[in-house]
Amino acid sequence: MQQAIAAGPKEQTDVIVIGAGSAGYNAAITAKQAGAKVILLEKAPFSGGNSMLAAGGMNAAGTAQQKAHHINDSVQSFINDAMKGGRYANDPKLVEILAKQSADGIKWLESMGVNMDDLKRSGGASVDRTHRPHGGLSVGPTIIQHLRKAADKFGVETRLNSRAEKLVVDDNQQIVGVVVHGKHSGYYLLAAKSVVLSTGGYGYNKQMIAYYRPTFQGMTSSNNITATGDGITLAKAIGASMTDIDWIQAHPTIGVDSRILISETVRGVGAIMVNQQGSRFINELTTRDRASDAILKQPGRFAWLVFDNQLYKKAKMVRGYDHLKMLKKADSVAELAKLTGMVPNTLEQTVSNYNSYQKSGDDQAFHRDNMPLNLTQPLITR
Ligand SMILES: Cc1cc2nc3c(=O)[nH]c(=O)nc-3n(C[C@H](O)[C@H](O)[C@H](O)COP(=O)(O)OP(=O)(O)OC[C@H]3O[C@@H](n4cnc5c(N)ncnc54)[C@H](O)[C@@H]3O)c2cc1C
Repeated sequence: MQQAIAAGPKEQTDVIVIGAGSAGYNAAITAKQAGAKVILLEKAPFSGGNSMLAAGGMNAAGTAQQKAHHINDSVQSFINDAMKGGRYANDPKLVEILAKQSADGIKWLESMGVNMDDLKRSGGASVDRTHRPHGGLSVGPTIIQHLRKAADKFGVETRLNSRAEKLVVDDNQQIVGVVVHGKHSGYYLLAAKSVVLSTGGYGYNKQMIAYYRPTFQGMTSSNNITATGDGITLAKAIGASMTDIDWIQAHPTIGVDSRILISETVRGVGAIMVNQQGSRFINELTTRDRASDAILKQPGRFAWLVFDNQLYKKAKMVRGYDHLKMLKKADSVAELAKLTGMVPNTLEQTVSNYNSYQKSGDDQAFHRDNMPLNLTQPLITR
């Protein structure tokens, strides 16, 4: 690496973007559209990072899609929900930027050819604000597929298998380049006027998790193997300070003994969550941290998501879980209880109560305010 620095820049460009996930593609395409010469570096042999795993959708307020569905939302309501969900520990300025620019974010994706017409409600939101492609397509793969095409179309030079190893600074501590390790080309130095770090998080880096958030040590991760916090290491090496670096979100639902995240869509579209007895124990659409904490307090530290054939037909991803043999299916609630080891009377009572709450629109047990479906149509198993 030192030799590459000593040899001087192999190439000069306007902008280097490090990391080809959705943030990196966004930066690279936007810089290119503004007339800059851009090189997009990606360490993996594939682009997409965690972005291509996103399965729920993207939150945005005041969009054309919401208007078309007569959903009354506002930037302020998004801010309120986000602050509340973050227990007011969030940086209000960043939340404001997120909320204010969210509708434009959807428009930008549409300009890249991504359809974001479907809407659903996610945990902690007071209205249907989560946008995703129509027809049940998963949001992350769809976005990445379109951004890959758009980057090619606009002439962004994307280099796969190209890991940023070091940020190079001049005497004034200005970043002037990046040392890259190309799988086939070895180390070389790229000089640039601007460098964008979009290397994602550290959710797949066990050492970093143990260091920054010891309470999550050893927890399974649904993250892509690319999420190893390289950007944090690169930035720290040149003296960057870190803010809120210990904040990791544990997603409440993941397949038992697997790394497969069960999207929030399943609850948002209508599933209830019950414990091993067959009782609900929380508003399924509360914030993720509260839902995770509540699950960990149940016997065995796990929960079941219970839904019926209506949801199976509506949420395409559930058919994917079925394909992976993750579902237990039964023709009746009592039979489902037997199959899963729950208490039949309890589960039957839970389902019957929920159906009456759903009908009246008043969840007397946990005040869930969005109950799109009842649980009345068994999954046909024979
Ligand atoms: C299973 C799962 C489901 C999710 N679902 C949702 C959802 O429904 N809605 C939602 O809003 N969010 C969701 N998220 C979160 C969301 O996916 C991330 O917040 C978002 O994708 C981050 O985008 P990014 O571009 O910053 O990072 P990433 O998409 O992770 O991209 C970072 C890229 O940088 C590359 N890289 C890293 N280090 C280097 C290096 N040294 N040199 C070169 N390249 C490097 C990586 O290989 C990767 O391609 C989900 C996350 C996961 C894991």
